[in-house]
Amino acid sequence: MTEAGELLALVRELRARAAEGDLQVGPAGAARPAPPKPEPVEPPGLDALKAQVAACRKCPLGAQRLNPVFGVGSPKAQVMFVGEGPGFQEDRQGEPFVGKAGQLLDDILKAIGLSRQTVYIANMVKCHPMVDPSNPDARGNDRPPAPDEIEACRGYLEEQIRLIRPRFIVTLGNVATKALLREELGITRARGVWRELRIEGLEEPVRLLPTFHPAALLRDPSLKRDVWTDMKNLRTELSRP
Ligand code: SF4
Repeated sequence: MTEAGELLALVRELRARAAEGDLQVGPAGAARPAPPKPEPVEPPGLDALKAQVAACRKCPLGAQRLNPVFGVGSPKAQVMFVGEGPGFQEDRQGEPFVGKAGQLLDDILKAIGLSRQTVYIANMVKCHPMVDPSNPDARGNDRPPAPDEIEACRGYLEEQIRLIRPRFIVTLGNVATKALLREELGITRARGVWRELRIEGLEEPVRLLPTFHPAALLRDPSLKRDVWTDMKNLRTELSRP
């Protein structure tokens, strides 16, 4: 079976098992009953930062959004996943990656023994960039964040990284990869290659792995093979002390 086929088979198996009785798959692939999910408790720093984002108007997106989308997951996560910005569904629910792309991200996390509760998921910008902000209910109204919006919002993500101190960051897609690394390297060439990200205030650089955005996998399923390779790579690094 190809690696892409391996990922698909694994995702199907996980869905079937979840339907049967909420099973969880560990790093070695062994099924076990899922423990009760703890409510993520944000440390004071993250809580205060979240309040700042809720009141933020540093760029025009703040006045256009329906809800700020701060981030979700464990404040002690070993790995952070970073996308570009909230879309239509995220704007309504105030949580990153909740549409179809989000469901696929959840499946990918499960396939390597992780979950939305054990990683941290955030975006480069915290408010929904729209093509036509006067019509937030229109579909197909999403757009990537502009460079000045990313710069206005960058400090919030960097502070999240300082507070969470993840061992690894996975950037999802072209926009987040270029923005965080401050490079023009496209995702097709950047993906799968470990990089180091220096964040002011952290003594050690954070290891960063670019991969494709889940939305790109929905448009072009042939990219799943590369993402599966990247996720196995991440799983191997996570298993090291
Ligand atoms: S996108 Fe970021 S900088 Fe702009 S208003 Fe929202 S939180 Fe503030």
